[in-house]
Amino acid sequence: MKKRDRASDKFNRRSAGFFGKYDSFADAFPSIASIMVVVEIDGHDVRGLKETRRFDQSNLREIVDCPDRLCPGGFQISTVLQAMVDNKEKHKEGSAVCSGQRGESPLGVCVTQFTYTIDVVYKVIQGGE
Ligand SMILES: [Zn+2]
Repeated sequence: MKKRDRASDKFNRRSAGFFGKYDSFADAFPSIASIMVVVEIDGHDVRGLKETRRFDQSNLREIVDCPDRLCPGGFQISTVLQAMVDNKEKHKEGSAVCSGQRGESPLGVCVTQFTYTIDVVYKVIQGGE
């Protein structure tokens, strides 16, 4: 049984799930009015894997995929975001290394680094909410 409210109605359902139980960004983060995320992805020794990706509440997913085709990993940005929401943080910068492994080699630890900047605008809680 899903709880519906006006905010979640504004979001379509194409976005990937969050935390394995929420269909949309709005359901996963109901206190967020809008969000701006910039992720710089650096594949280090892998040429051509340096890029900047931008996300907002309409296209942010739980995981920013690793651009390395040999790597199934990525950066789980939703965990960072959840911590921000818990602490009511509006701005956060940081970096994370890829969670994945490249190819079959046990030494093939992925070196892709994700450097992120997250800006969150929270909903104003109305009196009587
Ligand atoms: Zn990777």
